[in-house]
Amino acid sequence: MIKIETKNVDFFYGKFQALKDISIQIEDKSVVAFIGPSGCGKSTFLRLMNRMNDLIPDTRLEGEVLIDDINIYGKDVVVDELRKNVGMVFQKPNPFPKSIFDNVAYGLRVNGVSDKEFISHRVEETLKGAALWNEVKDKLKKSAFELSGGQQQRLCIARAMAVSPSVLLMDEPASALDPISTAKVEELIHELKKDYTIVIVTHNMQQAARVSDMTAFFYLGAMVEYDYTKKIFTNPSKEETQNYITGRFG
Ligand code: ADP
Ligand code: MG
Repeated sequence: MIKIETKNVDFFYGKFQALKDISIQIEDKSVVAFIGPSGCGKSTFLRLMNRMNDLIPDTRLEGEVLIDDINIYGKDVVVDELRKNVGMVFQKPNPFPKSIFDNVAYGLRVNGVSDKEFISHRVEETLKGAALWNEVKDKLKKSAFELSGGQQQRLCIARAMAVSPSVLLMDEPASALDPISTAKVEELIHELKKDYTIVIVTHNMQQAARVSDMTAFFYLGAMVEYDYTKKIFTNPSKEETQNYITGRFG
């Protein structure tokens, strides 16, 4: 089943065209990695999938972005609902200045959930799902800032998961983390794949090779090649991809 599809997507910041005619299909419950040199449009493309670029003035989208076969830029789409279904995790862990518990409960509360028992059950379940429960269960009332960077990032993943999305977008989620925390985040991504469709931007090619099923290589706003990760890293079809994965540029 196709979960996310784009059709001939062009995207402009003012007059600058950041994305050029991108069409992609992403399978349900798969992990897709976006790779390519800095500035090639990976984050821009990722942000289109939950309309985060709407917040940037003087931008323009052409083409279609569909999730579950629905054009998410259609006029009936409620952006808050979309973002509940399509969660996002950023490069730097950005927990709220609240307790560990309240970070995870946040999304439920802003969505009007007030049943305390339901909330605490969901917080526990989500923290278990994010492989963080054992590390935090005795200090749920402590500030999220007391956690290590890697734990904070897994908390942010838990926060995104708490409102039951079906898609998780991750923009270089491990690039600010040490190797051990990175390994934990990668392990988590592997686990989450059972329940979520995950799109991850990474400039770490080993990471893309480890975590993803499919990989898309971007260059200068175009998607040069999209294929099985194994194929991209062992026998890419395009010369630009070959040059990139062998470290000849970028
Ligand atoms: P990547 O994530 O691959 O590094 P980005 O999507 O961040 O690339 O950027 C793609 C291009 O769009 C770059 O040339 C960048 O300078 C430009 N760009 C990104 N964000 C903005 C913005 N808010 N305003 C204007 N140009 C932007
Ligand atoms: Mg980026």
